[in-house]
Amino acid sequence: MKFKEVFLGAGSMLHGTTVYIYFMIPEKWNVVPSYFTPEAFLSKVVNNDKWVIVGNTSAVIVVEDKNRIGRPIRLQLKVDDRKHFSDVDEWLLLKNQEIRKNSKSSLKEAGKIKICKHEGAYSIWVESKKRFGVFGQQYSDANVVCVFRCEVTNREITIKMRSEYPDIILSNRPTIKCILGSIACHERTRKEDEITVEGSSL
Ligand SMILES: [Zn+2]
Repeated sequence: MKFKEVFLGAGSMLHGTTVYIYFMIPEKWNVVPSYFTPEAFLSKVVNNDKWVIVGNTSAVIVVEDKNRIGRPIRLQLKVDDRKHFSDVDEWLLLKNQEIRKNSKSSLKEAGKIKICKHEGAYSIWVESKKRFGVFGQQYSDANVVCVFRCEVTNREITIKMRSEYPDIILSNRPTIKCILGSIACHERTRKEDEITVEGSSL
């Protein structure tokens, strides 16, 4: 499968573009901006890029389903120079406990992942929800959360993905792990336009 590089950044008339992360998505997928303005409170130049050290941003990944209808995966990204967990094993344990404790949630997959030579962890789960009102319709959303610490830029990175079309996330789990594994957080190293996805359902 062919992949293309995208990046999440914040623009400023005075300071130019600051980058949160670079990552790869399948060529047929798209990333579009969300309604929310990115927030970048602190940035630092490392390896020729100006990285956001404290801030957050969001975007929408658009994936075509079997009927070629574009379905959204909402992406939220938070970067922070403060530590919120001591190591990824501890994070994974606590996150999975939290998901299992919620009777409306069902854990689908969790594990560790290498991101730009850093050790990361992720969890994928489905949560059943109800729309507003007493007779609100039931629906489920699928969630992905991934955390890691980049020691080079000295920041903790949290990526969340959510879709009200659970199958878009669940059937594309190998691809989603490839996207997470393709993140460049301190050096724009990936020049190749193709990475291999094993067992992808696309
Ligand atoms: Zn890094």
